[in-house]
Amino acid sequence: MLRKIEHLGIAVKSIDETLATFETLLGSSCYKIEEVASEGVKTAFLQIGESKMELLEATNPASPIAKYLEKRGQGIHHIAFDVEDIHMEIDRLSKAGFQLIQASPKDGADNKLIAFLHPKSTEGILVELCQEKS
Ligand code: ZN
Repeated sequence: MLRKIEHLGIAVKSIDETLATFETLLGSSCYKIEEVASEGVKTAFLQIGESKMELLEATNPASPIAKYLEKRGQGIHHIAFDVEDIHMEIDRLSKAGFQLIQASPKDGADNKLIAFLHPKSTEGILVELCQEKS
């Protein structure tokens, strides 16, 4: 079951240069900056009520974020949904014909297990499923 929008992922050229704008906009301070080396990204998280914003900066030119910025510029990169059981959701969605970018969940930022659905199967929107690690 998808329970809520956990966060919106926003691709930015530089967290240092954009964080203050988002902190002022949301009236909320960044509570965590974390690098996910396997994804080639640095992330910064801001809390808004029950949801979050995740700023994503590329840490190398091969990073999916670098490619995204090159093609589309800064903006909303993905929507992440909180799920109770990520394995069950992956199973349910693949049976329903959605294309998973990876077949099994992997470690993401902010203490999460994550999996992405390919935008080809979700009307052009990159969707992330995430489950809090216990
Ligand atoms: Zn995310």
